[in-house]
Amino acid sequence: MTSFDILVVGAGPVGLAFAASLAASDLRVALVERQSIADLAQPAFDGREIALTQTSVKILRELGAWDAIPCSEKSPLLGARVLNGSNPFALSFDAPAGSANPLGILVPNHWIRRALFGIVHKREHLRVFAGCTVVAAQIDRGGAMVTLSDGRQFQAQLLVAADSRLSALRDLLGIAAEVNRLGCSMLICRVRHEMHHHGIATEWFDDKQTIAMLPLAKGVSSLLVTLSANEVSRLVLMNDADFLAEMSQRCRGRLGKMSLASSRHAYSLVTTWADRFWTPRAALIGDAAVGMHPVTAHGFNIGLGGQHRLANGILTAWRKGTDIADPTLLRRYETRLRLSAAPLYHATNMLVRLYTDERPLAQVARHVGLRLGQNLPFIRRGISAVLRR
Ligand SMILES: Cc1cc2nc3c(=O)[nH]c(=O)nc-3n(C[C@H](O)[C@H](O)[C@H](O)COP(=O)(O)OP(=O)(O)OC[C@H]3O[C@@H](n4cnc5c(N)ncnc54)[C@H](O)[C@@H]3O)c2cc1C
Repeated sequence: MTSFDILVVGAGPVGLAFAASLAASDLRVALVERQSIADLAQPAFDGREIALTQTSVKILRELGAWDAIPCSEKSPLLGARVLNGSNPFALSFDAPAGSANPLGILVPNHWIRRALFGIVHKREHLRVFAGCTVVAAQIDRGGAMVTLSDGRQFQAQLLVAADSRLSALRDLLGIAAEVNRLGCSMLICRVRHEMHHHGIATEWFDDKQTIAMLPLAKGVSSLLVTLSANEVSRLVLMNDADFLAEMSQRCRGRLGKMSLASSRHAYSLVTTWADRFWTPRAALIGDAAVGMHPVTAHGFNIGLGGQHRLANGILTAWRKGTDIADPTLLRRYETRLRLSAAPLYHATNMLVRLYTDERPLAQVARHVGLRLGQNLPFIRRGISAVLRR
């Protein structure tokens, strides 16, 4: 049976970042991923434009991934406006006056994956087993043993689940999770448009739909529409001309004349929060631990920060020659991730509930919420600080 120090299931952006974070050691790390090597090396555009915080940019830079992403794929997010229905009032978030840094930087998800895979693939002690999944996992005091879908068996001192919000490994490990299927989907595509976006994102909670417009290159935005799953399926299947006509109507001409600049992608919205982020000899990272609603654009930022803390704990143990799966180390990882992610997770869920509730009282409450946010600078500054951290 082949042995590793650490076995990671899922080579998404967080699993890859975790393996890359361990590259400085000589720990033998295996990544098991159901996608093919070709799809990992050249991931296709998946519609997601990830709004990275400055902290995430710093982590990606330290890993060597930031410079592997072309400058043309990095779009500064200079501000954000939140709108409620047809009310012209907008709650505004901007980078602080005089700050050299924007609120965040938008980078396509497939470029983040590609850059991280490039780092992992170069290292001999980081091995990728693509095109397979884990079908069984057993833990004992000495470590973890897993069986892959192709029948191979691997042993490791530490098993790490990075296999997304509906993590199969989390189930195999017997860790329960709160899984909320929200009954709606998000449709995303890039559009070229005639109005200037000035680097400002718009989040617009409208009647029975939420629309976000994220500023990319000059005259190009990512358009995100949240609707019932049925409505999104209908929009995905429409021909381009009908789709654009309907989107222009839904956006009430905010972007002017539009044309499609990419394929269309649909995501059904599910949020998750695992009951535990570790169990003896195993840990959960990324969406397998915390699956955020995308509306506040923080899922990857939280996952990247979490894996960074776990990897640092492991590297410290490795340098000292102590157990890399020590329960104290794993417990500390869980506590810190809980503390940093819980406020954002719950605040985002509350925001989603308030802004998708069509009852008249909720409509008044969100208008009052936006006004309060604008007139109480400490609220606005607090939210901007969270967005930038
Ligand atoms: C529409 C949308 C917009 C978003 N925008 C933002 C944003 O602006 N900012 C932000 O911070 N976050 C954003 N997010 C969240 C972000 O995309 C996720 O948090 C991030 O992708 C999580 O990375 P991950 O590696 O944990 O999981 P994933 O990206 O889901 O990757 C999991 C990997 O595991 C593999 N896998 C799954 N099951 C198995 C299995 N059984 N065996 C082997 N491999 C398996 C999958 O193939 C995949 O490669 C957005 C999400 C969505 C849906």
